[in-house]
Amino acid sequence: MTDLHDDLETGGGVSGPSARRAINAAAQAPRFAGTVITATTARRLLANEDALLYDNPHVLLLCHYRREQALCHRGVPRETPSLDHCVDGCGNVVRTDQHADQLHDRADTLDKRATYVPQPLAERFRKNANRLRALADEHDQTRITLAKDPA
Ligand code: SF4
Repeated sequence: MTDLHDDLETGGGVSGPSARRAINAAAQAPRFAGTVITATTARRLLANEDALLYDNPHVLLLCHYRREQALCHRGVPRETPSLDHCVDGCGNVVRTDQHADQLHDRADTLDKRATYVPQPLAERFRKNANRLRALADEHDQTRITLAKDPA
């Protein structure tokens, strides 16, 4: 959360259904950075869903977990997200500018690989590359920054 705060302070943007909530939570982050806290305070902090972001590098997003809207384990309330079952369109998704860059990089890699494999596999790679680029474009078109979202 502190990293996100620093990114936002230097003009970074976020997108996704939980982008605004993440911006508000990141504004609180410096209060804890570098501070020695007691175990009780740590437990209280960990119990505060808004204060935690889960990095999911596999699908290039941050999960700002809120149990009631998690799509990865619907109907089975859990304390933490199932990152390996992340579902597109979940209300907890946050994407950063870095994620958008990495989506482009991954798409380029898939397109390159597509030139060396048989046709059916190449089509799958290219389709996936287009999907990743669409996610990156969506980020670019919908990202919000501190300047646009001073709340
Ligand atoms: S579906 Fe993905 S973004 Fe949503 S709660 Fe699960 S891991 Fe987080």
